[in-house]
Amino acid sequence: MSRLAVASIDLAALTANLARLRALAAPARLMAVVKADGYGHGLERVARALAGADAFGVAAIADGQRLRAAGHAERIVVLSGPDAPGDLAELRRLDLDAVIHHPSQLEWLEAEAGGAPLRVWLKVDSGMHRLGFAPQCVADVHARLARLPQVHPEIVLMTHFAASDEFSNALTAQQIEAFAAATRGLPGPRSLSNSAALLGWPAARGDWVRAGGLLYGLSVVRGKTGADHGVVPAMRLATRLIAVNRVAQGEAIGYAGTWRCPEAMPVGIAAIGYGDGYPRSAPSGTPALLREREVALIGRVSMDLLALDLRAVPDARVGDEVVLWGPDLPVEHIAAAAGTISYELTCGVTRRVLFVER
Ligand SMILES: *Cc1c(COP(=O)(O)O)cnc(C)c1O
Repeated sequence: MSRLAVASIDLAALTANLARLRALAAPARLMAVVKADGYGHGLERVARALAGADAFGVAAIADGQRLRAAGHAERIVVLSGPDAPGDLAELRRLDLDAVIHHPSQLEWLEAEAGGAPLRVWLKVDSGMHRLGFAPQCVADVHARLARLPQVHPEIVLMTHFAASDEFSNALTAQQIEAFAAATRGLPGPRSLSNSAALLGWPAARGDWVRAGGLLYGLSVVRGKTGADHGVVPAMRLATRLIAVNRVAQGEAIGYAGTWRCPEAMPVGIAAIGYGDGYPRSAPSGTPALLREREVALIGRVSMDLLALDLRAVPDARVGDEVVLWGPDLPVEHIAAAAGTISYELTCGVTRRVLFVER
């Protein structure tokens, strides 16, 4: 069977988004965060389109291996650093930067007999309480790192925000202040901002901005889409109708019959479901696009299929394209309907979907 569900990735959109973010971030440098397979868009293709970035950010050494194998010479920062002492040699072999966020990692570094200078980003927990050293430990950790010949002398100081997508949330202002206090007097570049902070928290610009979502044209700001921030969505997810049926008034659609036809009506069956990464939590009423018109999802999303109310497009035919999200149908709207964020949807597109570049 041919694969009907297609995720097309707009490489020019990625490149244009990068240019826009670089201009917004300047004079700070821009790290393009490409973790989770480039937010689901495909690591290697995304990195190719974003090759002008000052660095790449990845979650795991394995992603750094893939980028080096693809020929990338840019700085690559492993955002959670080594997971075991043996990772230090691999970080050096691949010339990857390591985030150091925990005393165990510091001990592994100190236990090394030597080695080429590893580039280190010292992570401060300024209030998110996920990864990072407590503010009162930072000066001591910095001193311990700075005296190691196996650590590069330029140590980047970084932190991460918990709520920077809420532009009036006082927590971010507190985190900015806590980070400044913890790092006062220490040398080295600063890195605080993710995408949302780049938009909403200019005081957190620092020397390195770490942007992910906006590069892909995605927003996590409530009620906003990528386009609202001047970036272009890079992913378009589409499939085709494989059935158009006339269903009688009162009949129920799909598993558990959660939606009933209020009148005799055309119902389209599209070849995509949660096995492709379309969220099962999307309720009846969630929009899709057919012949440039909005049609509503009806009934439960199943593994391979979903049903659409075709009353808005009564001339729809088997084989017609159905767009699930893309530049003309913001993924943020689908995410809001499904009770999640755009990032989870693009990350969740599965291997069954055919990825093409445009
Ligand atoms: C994922 C991540 C980012 C990027 O966040 P976006 O919201 O996608 O811009 C930045 N910094 C760290 C530490 C991250 O884990």
